[in-house]
Amino acid sequence: HFEGRVLVIANRLPITIKDTKDGNFEYNISSGGLVSGLRSLAKAVDFKWFGWPGIDIHRNDKDKVGRDLQDKFHAYPIFLNEQLAQAHYNGFSNSVLWPLLHRMPEKVRAEESWPMAYREVNEIFADNIVPMVEDDDLIWVHDYHLLLLPGILRERLAKKKNVKIVLQIVLDGVSRSPSDLHWGGRKVIVHGFSIGIEPEDFRQRTESECVKRELANLKDSFKGQKIILVVDRLDYIKGIPQKLMAFDRFLAEPPDWVDKVCLIQLAIPTRAEVDTYKKLREEVEALVGHVNGKHGTFSSTPIHYFYRSIKPEQLCALYAAADVCIISSIRDGLNMVSYEYVACQNQDTAEVLLMSYYAGAVKTLPSTVVVNPWDIPRFSNTIEDALEMSAEERRRRYRQNVDIVDRCTSVRWGTMFLNTLYKGRVPEPEEL
Ligand code: UDP
Repeated sequence: HFEGRVLVIANRLPITIKDTKDGNFEYNISSGGLVSGLRSLAKAVDFKWFGWPGIDIHRNDKDKVGRDLQDKFHAYPIFLNEQLAQAHYNGFSNSVLWPLLHRMPEKVRAEESWPMAYREVNEIFADNIVPMVEDDDLIWVHDYHLLLLPGILRERLAKKKNVKIVLQIVLDGVSRSPSDLHWGGRKVIVHGFSIGIEPEDFRQRTESECVKRELANLKDSFKGQKIILVVDRLDYIKGIPQKLMAFDRFLAEPPDWVDKVCLIQLAIPTRAEVDTYKKLREEVEALVGHVNGKHGTFSSTPIHYFYRSIKPEQLCALYAAADVCIISSIRDGLNMVSYEYVACQNQDTAEVLLMSYYAGAVKTLPSTVVVNPWDIPRFSNTIEDALEMSAEERRRRYRQNVDIVDRCTSVRWGTMFLNTLYKGRVPEPEEL
């Protein structure tokens, strides 16, 4: 049991709110690593969530929504008007910081008003949070949308006792000990904690009747064909054009795989109002058309392209049906899709995970087939190697990967993180 409260602060509350237009609202808790990693700790820790509720709530309804969220989820909404939220989220966060943090300065787009909007949103978060903070609280600020917030909070909370703030900062000339930095008279622990998934949730879903039915339908539709699966947000970090070009080349070279293989590309809509993302969508859809026009036959379509989100049950059926899953990111923090795919396999299926050298998860999942997405000829050859890998080799790789997915869960990540904060050092694995 952890003493004291933990204030979890993220740009978005992990709750989807729907205005039913009859004076009521529907609330649904979102899934995802952060929520599942903390959910299981909720018994041991007193969490409070702070974040933007994701929709513009009419001023007459703000009190009601605030009360509902507090009562049902221990969540505190931070209301932002639509224009400010846009300039902060799609503007500075996603058009400036996201490409910079992924080392793609050429993708940066900037408008003069965005930096001010970014600062203003960080200030509004602080205005809402400061009155709620008590001595001994732990404040956990997430992600690049709120990089200024820890500094603002530290200034405004100087009089509080023993408040810990999780702060990510990049500084030159700071003195270091092996695991910590020393800055402004304080010790700052710097450590990478990679998140995971809850593999049992995926396994149970994959075993459900509904997913089994879906899987049988897929197997029937793609009888006689190998399935290559790709699940990407339609983001330029995911290397989608590179993968489609490699697949094009793979189909063009002997032996003739046309008719014997198809690629299912899920492109999950994201940041669709941002110009760079609109252009990427055009580029990807032109490439899909190009490959299908060039290699399609009356009996087969090489790429099945979906620009939409799908239900978790459909996703699990696809993970279970695929012979190869490709992750071709040219930069990616971790990549949860790789973990989810492994969790939906078993000793009998044990299918292949082919992953870019530039996705964070290549460092955590030891037995992926690694590819450089920029090297199109080799990428194309690797697709063939993956499709032809022996069952024995596939099982060996699966066993090693699934061992990590099972051990490095999101629950372990949350426990490890909070333990580090409470102990003031990164705990040894056996201490957990
Ligand atoms: N996903 C989704 N909607 C879909 C298909 C997938 O939300 O229609 C999920 C998928 O299950 C995964 C997440 O999107 O958990 C993508 O996470 P990842 O770490 O791979 O990439 P990110 O989108 O965070 O860059």
